[in-house]
Amino acid sequence: MLSTSSDPDCPLVEFVGVEKVYDGGRPAVANLDLAVRKGEFLTLLGPSGSGKTTTLMMLAGFEAPTGGDIRLGGRSIAGTPPHRRNMGVVFQSYALFPHMTVGQNIKFPLDVRGIRGLEAEARLAEVLALVHLEGLADRRPDQLSGGQRQRVALARALIFRPDIVLMDEPLGALDRQLRERLQSEIKQIQHRIGATVVYVTHDQTEALTMSDRIAVFSGGLVQQVDTPQNIYDRPANAFVAGFIGENNGIPGVVTARGEATCEIRIAGDLVVQATPVGSIAPGDAVLATVRPEHVLTEIGGDIPCNRFSAAIEELVYHGDHSRIRAILPGGATLTMRAPGRAALSQSQPLTVSWCADRCLAFPAEPALAEAAE
Ligand code: ADP
Ligand code: MG
Repeated sequence: MLSTSSDPDCPLVEFVGVEKVYDGGRPAVANLDLAVRKGEFLTLLGPSGSGKTTTLMMLAGFEAPTGGDIRLGGRSIAGTPPHRRNMGVVFQSYALFPHMTVGQNIKFPLDVRGIRGLEAEARLAEVLALVHLEGLADRRPDQLSGGQRQRVALARALIFRPDIVLMDEPLGALDRQLRERLQSEIKQIQHRIGATVVYVTHDQTEALTMSDRIAVFSGGLVQQVDTPQNIYDRPANAFVAGFIGENNGIPGVVTARGEATCEIRIAGDLVVQATPVGSIAPGDAVLATVRPEHVLTEIGGDIPCNRFSAAIEELVYHGDHSRIRAILPGGATLTMRAPGRAALSQSQPLTVSWCADRCLAFPAEPALAEAAE
């Protein structure tokens, strides 16, 4: 075991200015400052190639940073080999030993640590129960379903009681129903044993539903680290706004800027009230974002709202709601949701409205369009 700092406020893990450049390429990870708190479920979320796995592999010790430092309990682990870091790892591909039974696979980390006999058997029974695999210890991996194999991988990562569990897209190979069930089981297990989890996914729903905090990656850089709710409601930039959840992006130019609101001119010389994010000033090109669920077909109350007539370009019935693609007079399009029973037809004119506080104006950047592709 590594000796760790006794300061209770010290994060369990700290990435300090960490960088990783693979041979000659551009950095896979750059300027990474990230703290993992004891007991939290932290998710690294981002598109493919954004540096999530590289970050996890550096923490596990399978890749060495080319710059900066990683600390565990306040001390650098730069010289500590993977097996001395006391971290359990679960990958998307199960990486089970095919010639060993389930029990032997799960006990392998104990064997490596010299824990055998009764103690090993007791721990095996304990983790088999935890991952609901009682009675399957004598099977071989090829006699298991995909979901069961991933439970074996999870049990193997937990049996030596690691300080941290690292998971890299562990449910990526499973179908949706099974994935959702295992998402909730992993959360239950985490609560029960009080584990600290660093979880990698490119699936924003998985990140939103499972995490205490999410670190959003793009191009090797962390864009925002925050709770799921803040990531969704208060994205730090246009990339985060477009990558997490669905969002409309309306390009425009700032015509006036107040403390908490700004005015934006969009296509057709329509003027939209929005909430500025960051330092935007009159004359700046911006992207105004509003989520489909915040665009309404009618308004209640007297909140200052953007209100325009629109034409329905597409109306798709989804049972519990209808999805509408509406076009504003100047040509800007908006996707919105209306309650399932709303009596709408494609030919009828529509009034759409949304509130300034639900409409965020970001400095224009190409990232949102890219993320939405
Ligand atoms: P993610 O897990 O978010 O998909 P990765 O961390 O795997 O992203 O990759 C980040 C970047 O680093 C990508 O451009 C990828 O091609 C590159 N990369 C990853 N692993 C290696 C490697 N072993 N050698 C060279 N380049 C790599
Ligand atoms: Mg990856």
